[in-house]
Amino acid sequence: MMWETVHKNPIQANLLDYAAECRSFSWEGARARLYGRHGLNIAYEAVDRHAETERRHQTALRCVGRDDKVTELTYLDLHRETGRFANVLRELGVGKGERVFTLLGRVPDLYVTVLGTLKNLSVLSPLFSAFGPEPIRERLRLGGGRVLVTTPELYARKVAPIRDSLPALEHVLVTGDGPAPEGTRLLREAMTGASPRFDIPPTDSEDMALLHFTSGTTGRPKGAVHVHAAVIAHRATAVYALDLRPEDTFWCTADPGWVTGMSYGVIAPLTIGATVVADTGEFDARRWYRTLQDQRVSVWYTAPTALRMLMRHGGELAAGYDLSRLRFVASVGEPLNPEIVVWGLRALGLPVHDNWWQTETGAIMISNYAAMDVKPGSMGRPLPGIRAALLRRGADGRALVSDGEVQVVEEPDAEGELALRPGWPSMFRGYLDDPERYAKAFAGGWYLTGDVARRDADGYYWFVARADDVIKSAGHLIGPFEVESVLMEHPAVAEAGVIGKPDPVAGELVKAFVTLRPGHEPTDALRRELVAFGRRRLGAVAPKEIAFDQNLPHTRSGKVMRRLLKARELGLPEGDISTLEGSG
Ligand code: ATP
Ligand code: MG
Repeated sequence: MMWETVHKNPIQANLLDYAAECRSFSWEGARARLYGRHGLNIAYEAVDRHAETERRHQTALRCVGRDDKVTELTYLDLHRETGRFANVLRELGVGKGERVFTLLGRVPDLYVTVLGTLKNLSVLSPLFSAFGPEPIRERLRLGGGRVLVTTPELYARKVAPIRDSLPALEHVLVTGDGPAPEGTRLLREAMTGASPRFDIPPTDSEDMALLHFTSGTTGRPKGAVHVHAAVIAHRATAVYALDLRPEDTFWCTADPGWVTGMSYGVIAPLTIGATVVADTGEFDARRWYRTLQDQRVSVWYTAPTALRMLMRHGGELAAGYDLSRLRFVASVGEPLNPEIVVWGLRALGLPVHDNWWQTETGAIMISNYAAMDVKPGSMGRPLPGIRAALLRRGADGRALVSDGEVQVVEEPDAEGELALRPGWPSMFRGYLDDPERYAKAFAGGWYLTGDVARRDADGYYWFVARADDVIKSAGHLIGPFEVESVLMEHPAVAEAGVIGKPDPVAGELVKAFVTLRPGHEPTDALRRELVAFGRRRLGAVAPKEIAFDQNLPHTRSGKVMRRLLKARELGLPEGDISTLEGSG
């Protein structure tokens, strides 16, 4: 399927001369742009640095509550509140390297906890607030959580029942005005007695800062360890990939329990000095458009699943809102169907800029960045300072490693396992307590991402599949994403999830689960029509079987869980579904 390249829009291209910047880019240079007072500390770069300048009176954070009530904090407010929280930790005897967990939505207390923890050189690990007790227990246990900050309701429902099995969890601080459930203390009360003055201790940029559990799309979640140096990459990538500037109002829709919600929902925009919009409410198309309009969002970072839901409402809904402030839209987490980029142009007047990264990479690695033409369906090109390659794959679908060496695929349009040359500052420094698994992620001097991609002659990367999602059917290698994208071009299809189903003849048979747009009925006639539509567009790799499913399983970070579709199809155990949306 060929889609026309979307040429860059002059109002989006940063005034900086990107091309020259990119040529001269170095991580040392990016680091030099930060203050690094007393070493490099994420919270210093995000908050305290601005409190020393005129920016202190600028709004750092604007939280829109469920009731549409807006709470604003200036950089100075944030400086003081995070200082208080750091002092609270100090008074509790919680020190460097010790783990503080959050189980919170996108509320001001989340920002205060995260950044206050980093000031104190403790380690922050965020949990999805929709998690049930089991995934919460598992992560608190694996991460050795000593402190948890949550709401009284979440505590009572999800933590109190498992508290006894978590002896390391000494302190639970709850938000709100009380009363505090037994075994917890009011955060507010602790903060009132604490001084807002806190001098960040000297920080080694290799000090552990964040512990992020991966989305669990492929199985048991892994704890990726990140250090303070990551802030160099958070800031630089926000400039290049999101075109973010101090005068921007930035909204990242990702849940704070996910790496995107932390790297870009909290840290990156604050290091730049922008205003961060945080919306606590659940997804609702009208509400989201209203937030974009009322908060005058200029740069928006979201995910394909949300965009697909907006798309279901057609372009008319968007037309009812004033989105004239919006100048840059980016997406991450899953392949972005070309259809969505085209829809963005029509409905928002802007292309959606896809970018690719992982929990392990800590920051955006590949993107359709501001000053380059967008190719719909492509993840873009490696950011300055990032070296990517494709590695020849073996029979197991992963990069072929022999005697510790790998083979780099050079020819255009050939596919291989996507690999990155280690050395960027936000690269994970380990999987928590699992050095073996970490070691296995590297070969021949490359970090192996587990994703399969192609690179075209212009150097753009195209996502094919997760290495373990690739379907092998009658001698063809098929990436489910390509099939899903084609199905989505059919007017009846809102979303699709495609799997390989074992077949005695073909090896695997392509099966698609399809969610319909409003106004379409799941009839046999439509099923036949979709099969024929697929065959016309895709030929031999088209889905042979189509099932209608209005509730495709998603992870909490919004990805279609093909692993689960497949397990259900085959009647196999569902495995670890703690990150399944709606399972909490
Ligand atoms: P787990 O590693 O536990 O299975 P996960 O890989 O889904 O979970 P994340 O680190 O949140 O956890 O997601 C990173 C993955 O998401 C990437 O490796 C890739 O498969 C997918 N992804 C992210 N962005 C994109 C994108 N723009 N296009 C295609 N895939 C993407
Ligand atoms: Mg992964």
